[in-house]
Amino acid sequence: MPICISCRHPIPVLYTTYSKADDRALGKGVRLTQCPNCKGFADKYVEHDFVVLFIDLVLIKPEVYRHLLFNRLSQNNGTFDRAIIRLGILLLLFDVYLTWARIEKLPLPPPNHLSTNAAILQAQPLLFQYLFFLGLVALSTLAFHLPIRLLCSTNPDRIPHVFRGVWRRCVPYYAHPTPLSTALLVSSCTKLFPILLIIWDYDLPSSATAVSWAVIVNNIAALEILMDCGYVRAGTLVAVGACVSSAVGWGMVWGAGLGTGWEGYSPVEEVWGWWREMAALV
Ligand SMILES: [Zn+2]
Repeated sequence: MPICISCRHPIPVLYTTYSKADDRALGKGVRLTQCPNCKGFADKYVEHDFVVLFIDLVLIKPEVYRHLLFNRLSQNNGTFDRAIIRLGILLLLFDVYLTWARIEKLPLPPPNHLSTNAAILQAQPLLFQYLFFLGLVALSTLAFHLPIRLLCSTNPDRIPHVFRGVWRRCVPYYAHPTPLSTALLVSSCTKLFPILLIIWDYDLPSSATAVSWAVIVNNIAALEILMDCGYVRAGTLVAVGACVSSAVGWGMVWGAGLGTGWEGYSPVEEVWGWWREMAALV
């Protein structure tokens, strides 16, 4: 059943059509249902177009997430809405472009670290390079979604009694995994921002990093809004998914003999360098 996007109160119908001649997209011929609980409109977004929805998604407004996850994209039979499948494919293709551009610029592992991965990649046919990055991104995405789906859909009653209390505190229970993937895909739409890179010439690796952090913040917000589980538990779930996904991605890049960007990386030196910079500022 649809819900009120402000207070989550169940609403039988979100709007009433009283004239067939007019268009819902223009806000004509439609009367929005008033929520009996909070007295506001139950879902004002039924009248809004995609551009407004996209801007509010990027601004992480909980109401627009509730509209999409509960009132527009939820399917009772456990399958994905067609719009979500299309969005998933679009995100995958965008991710291939971003990942390709980022990995190509990374230095090769020693002793060839003065050259970049592009030297190895360009020796391969273009189709082979594309298929490699397509496989890399598809497997990384699966590795992000599967742990979150598995953890949340595990019934706490099946956990051994000793760990059950800790499990309930750390992992929210959500019986249907499809809305979880829908929430993660909808909240990843920030990935579409690099389309601006086609117009303006940005520093691509740093843009890719900024975009991936923005996507993570959106993912946490979406899981929190869907499951109402608090930001700490949603953040832990996204962190687990991101770790598994990164491990799969690095494993594939390393297995292909390419530089992962982690060769010669020392956390101690990083912290020491950061500390010296801070000391110099003070
Ligand atoms: Zn309400």
